[in-house]
Amino acid sequence: MVSVATLGSHCALQVLKGAKDEGLKTILVSEKKRERLYKRFDFIDEMILVDSFEEILDKKCTTILNKNNAVLIPHGTLIAQMSTKQIESITTPVFGNKWILRWESDRKLKEQLMIESKLNVPQAVSSPKKIKRLVIAKRHGAAGGKGYFLASSEKDYIKKRNILVKQGLIKGDSDLYIQEYVMGVLAYLQFFYSPLKNELEFFGVDKRHESDIEGLARIPSQQQLGMDYISSFNVIGNSPMVLRESLLDEVYQMGERFVSASRRLVKPGMNGPFCIEGVYDQDGKFWSFEFSARIVAGTNIYMDGSPYSTLLYDIPMSMGRRIAREIKQAAKIKKLDKITT
Ligand code: AMP
Repeated sequence: MVSVATLGSHCALQVLKGAKDEGLKTILVSEKKRERLYKRFDFIDEMILVDSFEEILDKKCTTILNKNNAVLIPHGTLIAQMSTKQIESITTPVFGNKWILRWESDRKLKEQLMIESKLNVPQAVSSPKKIKRLVIAKRHGAAGGKGYFLASSEKDYIKKRNILVKQGLIKGDSDLYIQEYVMGVLAYLQFFYSPLKNELEFFGVDKRHESDIEGLARIPSQQQLGMDYISSFNVIGNSPMVLRESLLDEVYQMGERFVSASRRLVKPGMNGPFCIEGVYDQDGKFWSFEFSARIVAGTNIYMDGSPYSTLLYDIPMSMGRRIAREIKQAAKIKKLDKITT
């Protein structure tokens, strides 16, 4: 019997609840300090307590996971706390494609995959000297929006960069990626691609609440002008959203192009959950500035199903449950190798 394992953080509760609902054994790799939290939930069958998540590479952890035929579900915490090399060296089967996580973490590779998917990507700005209009400077890796800032000129950029260097958040320009800022409605599009069914499912869309850029909008411009301050885009939470129905066809097409481009660039392709993240501009055109090649925390809003999963399933289907269902199906037909790496 196969079981589902994940790290204790991010969307672990959703993933393990979904696995339990599908009748699978659940295992949580938890930091000792979080044991008290996770013990509250009956659907977690077994906990492996660690001091640091890197211990999933150790023999002790791997032996337990192997004994349980565990499939490890990667999420944002795995990416934030382990290096690409470490992730690639995980011997426990990883749900989806662990090789594509490198493409998520590296800005250059990320841009390449998005362009190959024929997504509209905001223009990258190769040097601070070339800043001609409003840009956003973003840190590499899964910084979660902390230390990102807006700049409208080279001078403005240098001033803010120097403050971040002083604060120890970055070392210098090489830690930053500059991109044109697109104004509009932010939307985070959640998908699931099943290699077993060869089908793409659109699962939901969410909004992110980012601090403290959102707070800035609540302050009158007179006060804003007098502030010597750097905004930040630190994600605090998510809320649900539905799209105009006329936008849906393009949403599916973007997802499908992403799946086929990934298949060409990073074998075996984009299997399982992923998210395309961007902005709808005033003409309803979607500009993608980011993707996540694994489950996103925004799916936590829909533990009971989303407006879009309701159209596909007759039971409340969370992303976590959808993952477990794919694992169960693959195990039944002895094709676990098709959905894991
Ligand atoms: P990212 O790390 O690329 O997901 O960016 C974090 C946040 O910065 C996003 O959720 C957006 O609020 C904002 N952001 C990033 N890139 C852009 C862009 N090109 N235009 C407008 N907002 C952006």
